[in-house]
Amino acid sequence: MGCTPLQQQTAFFIFFTTAARAWCIATNLCHKEDVSYFESYGKEKIVQLRYATNLAVDQYIDQKAWEDAKLTHCPLHPKGGCRFARHGTYARKFPDGVKIARWYCPDGSVTFSLLPDCLCSRMPGTLIEVEEVINQMESAPSQEAAAENIRLDINLPGALRWMRRRLFLTRITLMMLIDLVASLGDCQPTVSSFRSVLGIELVLPRLRTLASSYLDILPPPLGFGPHPRTKKVKKNHFQHKTGTDPPYKKG
Ligand SMILES: [Zn+2]
Repeated sequence: MGCTPLQQQTAFFIFFTTAARAWCIATNLCHKEDVSYFESYGKEKIVQLRYATNLAVDQYIDQKAWEDAKLTHCPLHPKGGCRFARHGTYARKFPDGVKIARWYCPDGSVTFSLLPDCLCSRMPGTLIEVEEVINQMESAPSQEAAAENIRLDINLPGALRWMRRRLFLTRITLMMLIDLVASLGDCQPTVSSFRSVLGIELVLPRLRTLASSYLDILPPPLGFGPHPRTKKVKKNHFQHKTGTDPPYKKG
């Protein structure tokens, strides 16, 4: 027997609540000693930091604003003494022409990149583009219907995966913020609710500022924390031990 829409909605809500709480606890534990979340690529560690700017992405590109980005000291060694230095830029594929300023501390083997407020963390594109996807998903009669307006360039299963990934990450982020920020306590974990409570049209760019002290525990694309990953369950947890089943009892 299938679930009613109400049962599906309830299951969806419980899933996100549980995921958000677990995420919050896990990331807080992980960040107890760290200045920020490190993303590792082999031996190299990368830390994303906020480049606070109200430039739209077109302005950021036109003004080459990455040249103005400043990181005055090494976040790992605030008292100095390390060989921290500017380390050029890296280019993003989307939007075309975007570059990100970076620094490197060879003593800690860590690269720091300054991400402008308009851009997604660990995902292509801008926060406004993600918000538009979520908004269309919330307004459409079904996710399949929304996909017809959002991704015509790929097939439906691919479009749904692409959209749901953004929805999942954004909902977890919103739920965490409802718990973390007292002024957001009346919000529901939807873009439309945040728009209504905050009285603004674009929520995600504003949250980059409003939630700036939590960015290193919030998941992308808003925060700079880790991607949620499904933990692989060790196979032997469910493997029968060798011997009789049920176990042979002596005596
Ligand atoms: Zn350093």
